Amino acid sequence: MDRVSALSFVPALIDAFGRSTVNEVIRALLSEKRQAILDGAAVDAVWPSGERWIEADLRQRLEIAAVPRLRRVFNLTGTVLHTNLGRALMPEEAVQAVANAMRSAVNLEFDLETGARGDRDAHVEDLLCEMSGAQAATVVNNNAAAVLLALNTMAARKEVIVSRGELIEIGGAFRMPDIMTQATVKLIEVGTTNRTHLRDYEQAIGARAALIAKVHTSNYAIQGFTAQVAEAELAQLAHRHSIPLLVDLGSGALVDLTQYGLPKEATARESIDAGADLVTFSADKLLGGPQAGIIAGRVDLIARIRKNPLKRALRVDKITLAALAAVLQLYRHPERLRARLTTLRLLTRPRSEIEAIGRSLLPAMERALAGGATVALRECQSQIGSGSLPVDLLPSAAVAITPAIKGRGSGTALKALERAFRMLPVPVVGRVSDGALWFDLRCLEDADEFVAQLARLPGGTS
Ligand SMILES: *Cc1c(COP(=O)(O)O)cnc(C)c1O
Repeated sequence: MDRVSALSFVPALIDAFGRSTVNEVIRALLSEKRQAILDGAAVDAVWPSGERWIEADLRQRLEIAAVPRLRRVFNLTGTVLHTNLGRALMPEEAVQAVANAMRSAVNLEFDLETGARGDRDAHVEDLLCEMSGAQAATVVNNNAAAVLLALNTMAARKEVIVSRGELIEIGGAFRMPDIMTQATVKLIEVGTTNRTHLRDYEQAIGARAALIAKVHTSNYAIQGFTAQVAEAELAQLAHRHSIPLLVDLGSGALVDLTQYGLPKEATARESIDAGADLVTFSADKLLGGPQAGIIAGRVDLIARIRKNPLKRALRVDKITLAALAAVLQLYRHPERLRARLTTLRLLTRPRSEIEAIGRSLLPAMERALAGGATVALRECQSQIGSGSLPVDLLPSAAVAITPAIKGRGSGTALKALERAFRMLPVPVVGRVSDGALWFDLRCLEDADEFVAQLARLPGGTS
């Protein structure tokens, strides 16, 4: 260790990469070499004379270690709001607002009018109320937090009535019954998986009932012989018994998406108009903003939620608020929303436009894959993602890459191909289906950059 550390090129490496990283990398090199010798390799093969190879080896390891772990990728999976790839892409207005908020002090909890302490929700509350028709609104870390906080505030140690058909799991970690437990509320399941009636709710309302909850079945659809109770009826029932109705909208939309040719998604305003006392929804699903959860509804209930100590633990920072406020501003111009809100622009891209991108890519892709695979432009269907509108698909187009090797070895070839694209400077993530690697081009807006890095695909990848 000491002898390697004393080599003449080491100070320059420390200067470029930092002392602790250089030490770490030297240690890793030595331990690998030591192991190779223990495993029986010849010493002068493992450790040749001279120091040039040591410098080259260390430099390569350091360059790999210096690449940030969180990186930009091309999302060509066909799922627009991909949870594992960070969901909504944000418009330039939000990026600018975030940069400003990061660089400077801001009036996060400071009322400029009076000089008194302010509330951080104030920066988005008016906009949220304007867009949803709610009296008040508050923002927390994500929608799971919003549901947890609303349940805990409204019904701790009391009963919450939910239809059996709505006890959802969204990704492994969000299961409605588990959130209820964490919120210390008692779940009262009513109805059956496929059918729940008003009388089921009614019979379940006892002295300890504190809330009726309705949960949007985001990531699945129950079809066939089904029945569920409309929000307006549930609201009337809840209010007859002097308890509130909470609607977890999941994605939720702030505008009617059918005006942009998209499938219908419930809006926050519809639930508020139907009589819901509180609604919760994500900011980074169809809304197209940063990760956050919104609770909107009655002013007295929101006031209680703000006083819950959990709110302090789940609150958002100035960066999230800056981005959210900028995105919500765009909603003031619904006629321009499609052009300005990135998520909406991607979701509404017509197939013809996506196909045109595909056609422009084909020659470069064929050249890059050099006969190792065939490339074809194919029709496909994109998903909205994040549990939004699970059964609705958007007509799209993809380049499908099929390895030339058929039969045995084709699976391995496909895996190698997938990996080669993931190892590019801006990793490309697609989806494997029918023995081919599919790149749905709906979310490809920077085709030139995509093409420029194709030359780096290793030869014989496929
Ligand atoms: C997505 C979703 C959640 C969780 O929202 P996050 O913002 O991911 O925490 C909760 N409920 C429903 C119905 C959802 O669709």
